[in-house]
Amino acid sequence: MKRFVFLSFLAIFILMVYVQADSNSSNSQSNENEAVKISDLQSCVSACGLPSDLDFSDRAFPIERSDEEWRSLLSEISYQVARKHKTEPPFQNPYFDNKDLGYYACVGCEAPLFSSLDKYDSGTGWPSFSLAIDDRLVAQQVDNSFGMRRIEVHCALCGSHQGHLFPDGPKPNFTRFCINSASLKFIPSVSKAKLRSAILDWYKTEKNLTR
Ligand code: FE
Repeated sequence: MKRFVFLSFLAIFILMVYVQADSNSSNSQSNENEAVKISDLQSCVSACGLPSDLDFSDRAFPIERSDEEWRSLLSEISYQVARKHKTEPPFQNPYFDNKDLGYYACVGCEAPLFSSLDKYDSGTGWPSFSLAIDDRLVAQQVDNSFGMRRIEVHCALCGSHQGHLFPDGPKPNFTRFCINSASLKFIPSVSKAKLRSAILDWYKTEKNLTR
C-alpha cells in the first residue's frame, strides 16, 4: 500500500513538472511572436523617425534662396526639417491624421507634391502617401546615414527635404512616402474636380523644371 501511495505521488509530481515546462514553453513562444511584431514596428518607426544626414548646401535647384531668406520664410520647425533634414515627432504634427480633401504643397515653394486621394493611415504618426502627384517634382536621393539604406525624398524645385520613401506601402505600387508635416502646406478643396483643377492651375504658371 505504501509503495502504491509513493508511486502515485511520484506520478503526480512528474505530471506537474511536465505541465509547468509546457506552459513556460508556450509563454516563451508567445513572447517571441510578440517581440517580432514590436520589433517590426520599431524598425519601421525608427526608419521614419531618424533624420536625413544629407547636405544639399552645395547643390543648385531651380528655386534658390539664401539661408536668411529661408529662415524668414519658414517657421522654426519647417526650417529645421525642410532645410536642415531634421525630422518632426510622430503623432504630434498637424497632418498625420488629416483626412480632408485637398493637396499638399511644398512648404518651401508651394509645388503640389501629394494629394489627399493618395494619403493613407500607415500607423507611423507621419503623413503617408502611396504616390506623389508628379514624380518629376519629388526627387530621390540615396541616404546611407545611421547604418541603413533609405531613399530620401525632397522637392525637385527648391530642394526642401520631405521625408523618405519605403517599399512597404499598399497595393498596387507598394510605395510609402513617409513625409513630414513641417515640409508641407495643405491646400483644401471642396470637391475632387476642384482639387484636380487647382493642381492643373499650378502647372499653368511658368515653371523651370530643368536645370
Ligand atoms: Fe519646393
